[in-house]
Amino acid sequence: MPQLTFLGAARTVTGSKYLVEAGDERVLVDCGLFQGLKELRLRNWDPLPVDPAGIRAVVLTHAHLDHVGYLPRLVSGGFRGRIFCTPGTADLCHIVLPDAGRLQEEDARQANKHGYTRHAPALPLFTEADAFRALSQLQPVGFERPVPVASGIEAEFVNAGHLLGSAMVRMRFVANGGRRVLFGGDLGRYARPVLPDPEPPPEADLLLVESTYGDRVHEEDDDATRLAQLITETAKRGGKVIVPAFALGRVEEVLYWVKRLEDESRIPVLPVYVDSPMAVEALRFYSARYSELDPDIRPARRDLSAFATRRFEEVHSPKQSKDLMRSNRPSIVISSSGMATGGRVLHHLKETLPDARHTVLFVGYQAEGTRGRQLVDGAREVKIHGMQVPVHAQIEKIDSMSAHADRNEILRWLSGAPRVPKTAYLVHGEPEPMETLKAAIEERFGWTVKTPEYLEAVEI
Ligand SMILES: [Zn+2]
Repeated sequence: MPQLTFLGAARTVTGSKYLVEAGDERVLVDCGLFQGLKELRLRNWDPLPVDPAGIRAVVLTHAHLDHVGYLPRLVSGGFRGRIFCTPGTADLCHIVLPDAGRLQEEDARQANKHGYTRHAPALPLFTEADAFRALSQLQPVGFERPVPVASGIEAEFVNAGHLLGSAMVRMRFVANGGRRVLFGGDLGRYARPVLPDPEPPPEADLLLVESTYGDRVHEEDDDATRLAQLITETAKRGGKVIVPAFALGRVEEVLYWVKRLEDESRIPVLPVYVDSPMAVEALRFYSARYSELDPDIRPARRDLSAFATRRFEEVHSPKQSKDLMRSNRPSIVISSSGMATGGRVLHHLKETLPDARHTVLFVGYQAEGTRGRQLVDGAREVKIHGMQVPVHAQIEKIDSMSAHADRNEILRWLSGAPRVPKTAYLVHGEPEPMETLKAAIEERFGWTVKTPEYLEAVEI
């Protein structure tokens, strides 16, 4: 019987990696980095329980780092197979993987320079060169076209509506009575701008379902009323609105709403800076693949018009970023990383957090152990670049812009399943949301639901 082993995203939200073994073939679905708590991040350094050289292929659901960020390490460890993904995912991987490699190298340099390492010398988890090598192994495949990924194993991508190119992966085991496993990836949301709704789950024997927000219902879409209010009030105080945002996905939605509020004259027209070279590149891919976006914004031409606010500015050089950081003019600054764990947004936060005029607005999930989580949990000070920074700025969170389905949306999506799966496995969630969602699925559908542990193996 084919086997499935949970090598990540098991009772946690990062490190997505699922090993499929059938006969002599091994395929990895997703190849993500562990992020957040230190004990999790350290797992990135553990040897994989399987030799990378013995893996035939990798199949990716989407280009967020917790789903693709381990690829360069897999490649440096000897993986030489093909990496199947949608064309949109391939585009975005070209942005995120080399950047992740550069960051790893930079971290190692810093650790060596300041001596805060027990390892001498500190080494990067992988390098930019490893990332480029991984990119050369990408094999883009369109949606809903089953392709053989290994002997006797086919995979097919189905739109998940979570990020440009995001997909669920349905795997079919030709030699084993055509059994099917659906890897749900991260599930997008219904009736949101920018991306289309997720497709209903295709028929499968086993189902892997994310549970990030398994115990939550996102606040209802208020037509951006609160966003308008926050921007207007902050501008009146003469402050800036700092939006830590994941470079991929959230930036587009924030820009969409700000542009709409401007068009409807519901906010003052402020300079809007996207201070993230990655986010700027991602915007171009979104615009170029406009046919994959939500039908409502599709007529937007092949340019940035769907996202270009009136005083839209891309920030490229570190110098521009520093000037912007020191400027006290009211403006909206969108910068990554989304959980304030690194990136240029840290400089903006260092500057704005101590000042009550400013607002810091979180629009995405804040994982345990991150600075973003500390701030939304009400920390009075946070440590940035070794300094204690007092928090006087207004800290806000708008959940309705989340890219992840909430409990009701997950249930709505599951209700579209053409038949009862043998087992539904909950993944990609912290234990509490997972247990709540498990109970909800059992009660509503009467399915067998399991919450596998790290390194647990099950029969397919
Ligand atoms: Zn994701």
